[in-house]
Amino acid sequence: MIVSEIISEIRHKRWEDKSASWGLVPTMGSLHEGHLSLVRQAREENNRVAASIFVNPIQFNRKNDYDSYPTNLASDLELLEREGVDLVWTPQKSLVYPEIFQTYIDVTQLSKVLEGAARPGHFQGVTTIVAILFNVFQPTRAYFGQKDAQQEAVIRRMVEDLHFNIEIRSCPTVREKDGLAMSSRNANLTKKARAAAPVLFRALNLAKVAIEKGEISSKNIYQLLKNEIEKSECAQIDYISIADQKTLNEIKIIAGNVLISLAVFWDEVRLIDNIRISNK
Ligand code: AMP
Repeated sequence: MIVSEIISEIRHKRWEDKSASWGLVPTMGSLHEGHLSLVRQAREENNRVAASIFVNPIQFNRKNDYDSYPTNLASDLELLEREGVDLVWTPQKSLVYPEIFQTYIDVTQLSKVLEGAARPGHFQGVTTIVAILFNVFQPTRAYFGQKDAQQEAVIRRMVEDLHFNIEIRSCPTVREKDGLAMSSRNANLTKKARAAAPVLFRALNLAKVAIEKGEISSKNIYQLLKNEIEKSECAQIDYISIADQKTLNEIKIIAGNVLISLAVFWDEVRLIDNIRISNK
């Protein structure tokens, strides 16, 4: 496995064998089974696998979230090596964003709702770094997790609009045994919050069951989710959304392909989760 901070070295390895297909897994490190599931899928579908480890400062809108984001480079590299990754880019912040940096990518509509509304500037940071990664690696395919459902939608829009010749692949959310979606931020939860946090997936499943039983009112589903989550006294709901999967616009009646997503604070730690529902 080649690990490098230097773009010319990454490019050299990438183009060593021009006929090889490459899968890219962008990450912010502090890797867990969720990230590794992306790596495994990339391994299955490509001749070579690349990953990036970079905590992207411009996608954080809260300084405290950035400062407290967990890092663990040595053990990340061990995990990636074990998974048979071929190439890893671990750039310095000053290389990616030198002082004169002034080019940003903005997906103007999809970026502004849900996570984008709650975290202004977040997706501009995401699309900018992903475009940089796409240019550095020029992968055949790139892998993203469904846990970040809006991220996937925004990146697919960017790829279509800017004609990146890259196939976007999405992988299901990997969960702990108790249902909590794996996230690097889980490490920052207090014991009490960690014990309570599985309520998020429990609530999403309750909503799913209610919809399967015939509930079509978003208002009722919203209330059901809210009640369930508020049973946990340390949870502070940031938002609950019931939206069309494609446009991400809020819907009143649950029909077609629906994305139910939520963001909840546990003290300073903000967790997100979602489920997709098809109600024909
Ligand atoms: P991050 O390091 O948080 O930026 O995540 C890197 C990639 O891993 C993103 O595409 C995430 O959507 C994906 N990812 C993070 N957590 C999970 C999970 N629990 N299951 C599946 N994919 C995940």
